[in-house]
Amino acid sequence: MQHQEHLDWPFFDAHHKALALELDAWAAERVAHLHGDDVDADCRTLVRRLGDAGWLRHAVAGTAHGGSSEALDTRILCLVRETLARHNGLADFAFAMQGLGSGAISLHGTPGQKARWLPAVAQGRAIAAFALSEPDAGSDVAAMACSARVEGDTVVLDGEKTWISNGGIADFYVVFARTGEAPGARGISAFVVPADAPGFTVAERIALIAPHPLARLRFDGCRIPLSHRLGAAGEGFKVAMRTLDVFRTSVAAAALGFARRALQEGLERASTRHMFKGVLGDFQLTQASLAQMATTVDGAALLTYRAAWKRDQGHTVTREAAMAKMAATEGAQQVIDAALQLWGGQGVVSGQTVERLYREIRALRIYEGATEVQQLIIGRDLLRGFAPAA
Ligand SMILES: Cc1cc2nc3c(=O)[nH]c(=O)nc-3n(C[C@H](O)[C@H](O)[C@H](O)COP(=O)(O)OP(=O)(O)OC[C@H]3O[C@@H](n4cnc5c(N)ncnc54)[C@H](O)[C@@H]3O)c2cc1C
Repeated sequence: MQHQEHLDWPFFDAHHKALALELDAWAAERVAHLHGDDVDADCRTLVRRLGDAGWLRHAVAGTAHGGSSEALDTRILCLVRETLARHNGLADFAFAMQGLGSGAISLHGTPGQKARWLPAVAQGRAIAAFALSEPDAGSDVAAMACSARVEGDTVVLDGEKTWISNGGIADFYVVFARTGEAPGARGISAFVVPADAPGFTVAERIALIAPHPLARLRFDGCRIPLSHRLGAAGEGFKVAMRTLDVFRTSVAAAALGFARRALQEGLERASTRHMFKGVLGDFQLTQASLAQMATTVDGAALLTYRAAWKRDQGHTVTREAAMAKMAATEGAQQVIDAALQLWGGQGVVSGQTVERLYREIRALRIYEGATEVQQLIIGRDLLRGFAPAA
């Protein structure tokens, strides 16, 4: 199978390949056809199925707390996301959010915090969310205004978060709030806020072009125990960035999964659509389009798994992850558009696979750092590491 050839690349160990093949078979049977009208219910079902089958163990760290290994394995995160995205975008979303939403606990939680939340996340019994963005603090995260003040052994949160995936269905939110130890990014702390905390409300559900649960959240004197703080006071920005560092490469992998599916759909159409006494694929213009699509897919795969492999070797991958995310998400948009073009009028009919992919890919070029933000990261990193000859 063309979409499995990359599993023989040297980035992977034997267990990575075995896992990807097993997940591919499982996903074809258990999630590929789940496209209902109730996105909340579908998401809950997917989290439960992924948990029951053991796949969510890869989204948390620490075998004592339900994880499959002591540290998050970036290549596994990427292989799981790529595979699920190829079958069902909402299944990829459900897996990714369990990881992103609990990532700060895996990386910075105390043993007590890990014991309370991670096993439930790994089993699909608790739904996780990551609440960083605000109406006036998206790309400019350090501009956040949501505040948290300590009163004895209680923390009181006031403010708003928006664009929060799983907002409305999550059992807990990892929330980043201004605690004021220093100006800007150095005065932020991270907290686990259970969905039933007093003063917490889901202010608005937001509908998307490719639906997944998303909401604006309100904190009105929301009270949680101080023991819910993740990491040290004032270290919240670092907690957020470390979490995003792990999961940014996996966004590239999800885009790769969407692009592979689009290429598959394009090949199917080119091979079977009869026209001009032949099939669409007989024409050189079609072959050129398919060649461009396949090259973009392989380029994205190489960048994605280079970043994942390098991180698993213990290296910092800020630049590599940014390159992977930018190339894979932008490339997937082009590949999907080209596949839709091959499908002609049928490509824009609601419910067609290429139509769904066309909507699903768009947000990946914006969240976890828009493409322009990735460009800045790459450009600055190149300049920092460059020594002029004269
Ligand atoms: C579907 C979806 C799910 C999301 N899920 C979550 C979540 O679970 N948790 C969470 O905390 N957030 C989440 N977000 C928020 C997401 O991270 C932000 O939307 C993103 O950071 C961009 O912020 P913004 O929307 O405020 O856009 P803005 O910051 O206003 O940026 C608008 C545009 O400006 C451009 N831009 C940005 N910076 C620069 C620059 N320096 N130079 C030039 N151009 C620039 C980019 O093209 C960008 O798209 C989600 C967003 C979406 C769309």
